[in-house]
Amino acid sequence: MYLNRIYKKYPTQKDCIKHLEVIKWNSVPVCPCCQSKRQTPMPRELRYHCNNCQYSYSVIAKSIFHKTKVDLQKWFAAIPLIIQNNISGRQLAKYIEVTKDTACFMVQKIKIANREQPEFISHFLN
Ligand SMILES: [Zn+2]
Repeated sequence: MYLNRIYKKYPTQKDCIKHLEVIKWNSVPVCPCCQSKRQTPMPRELRYHCNNCQYSYSVIAKSIFHKTKVDLQKWFAAIPLIIQNNISGRQLAKYIEVTKDTACFMVQKIKIANREQPEFISHFLN
C-alpha cells in the first residue's frame, strides 16, 4: 500500500531521475567536472555527456543513491519513513520490501544525508 503510492507517482526509474534533476539542477544538467551546461543527453543510460570536457555524468553520481541496486522509488519512500516516522531498519524492510541488511544500510545512508544535506532530504518529506 505504501509502495503503490510512490510507484504511482514515479512509475519508472526515468521519472525518479527527472525528479532528482529538478531538485539538483532545476532541470538544467551541469557537469560536475567543469560546470559546463553544454551537454548531450544519453537517454538510454539516463546520463549526460559533457560537450566541453567529454566527461559523462548522471544526477545520482555522488548522491546517496549512487550505485544502488534498490529501486529509487523505494529510497524515496524510505526517506520520510526514517526521518519523520523514525522507523527501524527491521520495520523499513517490511514497508519497502527489501532485506533487513539492505534496509539497515539505507537507514544509515539516509540519516547521514539528513545531517549533511538537510535541504536535499527535505524534498522527499511529506
Ligand atoms: Zn565537463
